[in-house]
Amino acid sequence: MWLTPGRIPTTAPPRVVKVGALWQPPLGCHALVFSGSWSRDDAETAIKGAKEAGFDMIEIPLLDPRKVDPTMTKHLLEEHHMRSSNSLGLSFNADINSEDSECVERGRRLLFEALSTAEAIGTRYLCGVLYSALGKYSGPSSPRARANAARVLRELADAASDKGITLALEYVNRYETNLLNTARDTRAFIAEDMGDPKNVFVHLDSYHAHIEENSMREAVLACGDRLGYVHIGECHRGYLGQGSCDLPGLFRALRDVDYNGPITFESFSSAVVSDDLSNTLAVWRNLWDDSDDLASHAHAYMQAQLILNSKH
Ligand code: MN
Repeated sequence: MWLTPGRIPTTAPPRVVKVGALWQPPLGCHALVFSGSWSRDDAETAIKGAKEAGFDMIEIPLLDPRKVDPTMTKHLLEEHHMRSSNSLGLSFNADINSEDSECVERGRRLLFEALSTAEAIGTRYLCGVLYSALGKYSGPSSPRARANAARVLRELADAASDKGITLALEYVNRYETNLLNTARDTRAFIAEDMGDPKNVFVHLDSYHAHIEENSMREAVLACGDRLGYVHIGECHRGYLGQGSCDLPGLFRALRDVDYNGPITFESFSSAVVSDDLSNTLAVWRNLWDDSDDLASHAHAYMQAQLILNSKH
């Protein structure tokens, strides 16, 4: 059938797409998506891989700060125009959440070493389980162990403040610490136990929140104005959107509180193994093989959430 010119709607209003302010917090990727160790080649693979997938930042673990060459790392970051964050969790042998003063001292020394490495790299965020060993405790934390953790972290926060570094305490599920399992616990620990230093924030991880919180929204709101770092990970720590974690709910809540700190993708598979971290995190399953595909998919997923939640 032919359309006569008269039937073409020539008076239709022009289609206007209103583009409002895009919500653009920096997006990061955990180094273990690409590499389990940090030789120059491994570091370059990870930094380049994260950059090519679209990320602004890479999170470099410092479980053993001596294994990370800060000068090499700083140069590679500059070469690829990438920013960094650093993270670690303590071990039971060097744990500030302990009653054993020698064990606390070993933990304190490790944290200060990590802080020096972070400073030498030029990192602005030191995050993760800074307050505890990463692993299953056989009982709840004691008041003395808790006080030791708070005391050391106050000292670390002071030193970090002089260097312009923000600390973010990552609360994790009950099988990975006995001290901070929820956003509410963590906010209270910073405010009451630590005396509310201005450069200490809550680090919220969707994987842990999914296990311990009533909802992502409640978790985000419980952080108040002290949410400083976010990990996005699925319930099985694989591809985003494939699991049962309420990631859309988390992004909506983050937008509603105008969160603009880093949002970092964290994923683990037996395909990439870290001697330090994989066994601690119980990474037994092979959830992916292709780091580049996983990272590109994660970046696209996160970027889509930012656009969906931008205000028009
Ligand atoms: Mn995490």
